[in-house]
Amino acid sequence: MEKEKWVVCSAWPYVNFIPHLGTLIGSMLSGDVFARFLRHLGNDVIYVSGSDVHGARMEFEALIEGITPEELVERNHKIIVDHLKKFRISFDNYTKTSSQHHKRFIQDFYKRIYENGYVFRKKEIMPFCEGCNRFLPDRFTTGRCPFCDYENARGNQCENCGRLLEPSQLLEIKCAVCGGKPVFRETVQWYFDLPRLANKLLGYVEKQVHWPENAYTLTLNMIKEGLSPKSLTRDLEWGIKAPFPESDDKTIYCWMEAVLGYVSATKEWCEKNGREWIKYWKEPGAKTVFFIGKDNIPFHTIILPALLMAAEDNYVLPYQIASTEFLCYEGGKFSKSERKGVWIDEAVQLLPSDSWRFYLIRIRPETRDVNFIWEDFEEKINEELIGKFGNFVHRVLTFTNKYFDGVVPSPNGYDEEDKRILNEVRRIFEEITGTLREIRLKKAIRKVIDLSDKGNTYFQLKEPWKLVNEDREKCKTAIYVGLNICKALAIAIDPFLPETAEKMWRMLNMNGDVHTVNWFSALERIKPGREIGKPEILFRKVNRKDLLSKLMEIRGKH
Ligand SMILES: [Zn+2]
Ligand SMILES: [Zn+2]
Repeated sequence: MEKEKWVVCSAWPYVNFIPHLGTLIGSMLSGDVFARFLRHLGNDVIYVSGSDVHGARMEFEALIEGITPEELVERNHKIIVDHLKKFRISFDNYTKTSSQHHKRFIQDFYKRIYENGYVFRKKEIMPFCEGCNRFLPDRFTTGRCPFCDYENARGNQCENCGRLLEPSQLLEIKCAVCGGKPVFRETVQWYFDLPRLANKLLGYVEKQVHWPENAYTLTLNMIKEGLSPKSLTRDLEWGIKAPFPESDDKTIYCWMEAVLGYVSATKEWCEKNGREWIKYWKEPGAKTVFFIGKDNIPFHTIILPALLMAAEDNYVLPYQIASTEFLCYEGGKFSKSERKGVWIDEAVQLLPSDSWRFYLIRIRPETRDVNFIWEDFEEKINEELIGKFGNFVHRVLTFTNKYFDGVVPSPNGYDEEDKRILNEVRRIFEEITGTLREIRLKKAIRKVIDLSDKGNTYFQLKEPWKLVNEDREKCKTAIYVGLNICKALAIAIDPFLPETAEKMWRMLNMNGDVHTVNWFSALERIKPGREIGKPEILFRKVNRKDLLSKLMEIRGKH
């Protein structure tokens, strides 16, 4: 099969907070599973993301803490990078938008689209809060959405209907900081001429029938309703200086530069690693996929492709959008102020990362909002991950060690049941492959558990503990089949639970690296006569009451 070039892109989290479990499954973890799967298929994959550090919110947070925005960014970025490692998120480049590399890229990029005639200057009236003595860009204003009547729409977007907004469109506009009614003052801003690309965008989006339903429909409707020019600059200090004539006191709107971070991060990585970045972004056939929450769709299906078109530089346009709905926590939203939710720095102190990875992928909000519920967490870990998967692997390996001195026995003829299970393994493995290709991760992990459960049923049916005395040859076949299912499981589980796959690989004493081994070698039979390793415990049982009290203890220490 032809090696494909892929850039897997995960939305850039804003660096003022440590991400919670919802952010993890919405972008980074989902992207990680897919990137790992693509690598197994032998593709040339670069997985990128980073901290989104600019914008008014960051300036504001730093002010409150009494430190500079740079200090705040450095501190939080480091914590996030450490924890993403603990979660085994396999980024090739996890960078930040304050890097010199990104700044240079953004300034060159915007100079280019300015020269191409896609940027214009406009006097405008902006909301200004006299109480706070500042202009109120974006999230600094709230009000009623003119499209859906939602009460708490922000100046840049309505969270309810997903539409992008300008502050002047808000009804009953308020200052988000002090609640005061803003006045409108004149200022000059630069705009991206989005309407000029509307037809081209429509032609492009109509062809993307492989996008998820929510992304496809929302995007088409927005283009058909009509696009407005998108403001590009802000009256803010903390950001990337706008590179246009007489734009010295302006910075680029953080959303309009962070969204190009996928390109600059790929370029940065390639330059450090002796690769040609244009092969990933400017050569036909190169593919990009974006792991984002549903609130982020228009930025990736309209703004990003429009910017890439405006560069007139042969960029490949986004190939796939992997958008998720929201993860809620016990029936409500994650909320830092109310301490509702679990944050990744807390999660790793409670349980090994694979337990979290399993549950989050198992309930991944693919078609509707989903709830994180502790009772369900306990049930799915204990009954599925441990009761089915862990149990099967443990039984087969323990049996091999106990009755065959830890040596893979030779099969001796396959009966109908053996043949049936071997066919079943092949069929389910192919289904796992198919669902992973379609990025239906939740279904894929369910099928991995199914596969282990089929192994359990087979084991029960064969009763090797009886066969070992009654018909040793048949027993050898059954254990041989069981070990081969374990091997298939080790590879199948790897994109989801990389640490577990490593343990299984070691227990089976297989050659090579389980993370890079060819995906389809999962179905190649193990050589009889090989020695295997000692069984290890794969997962610990969980008890939600213990976990919750431990969580309170962790929080008490801060
Ligand atoms: Zn709305
Ligand atoms: Zn105010």
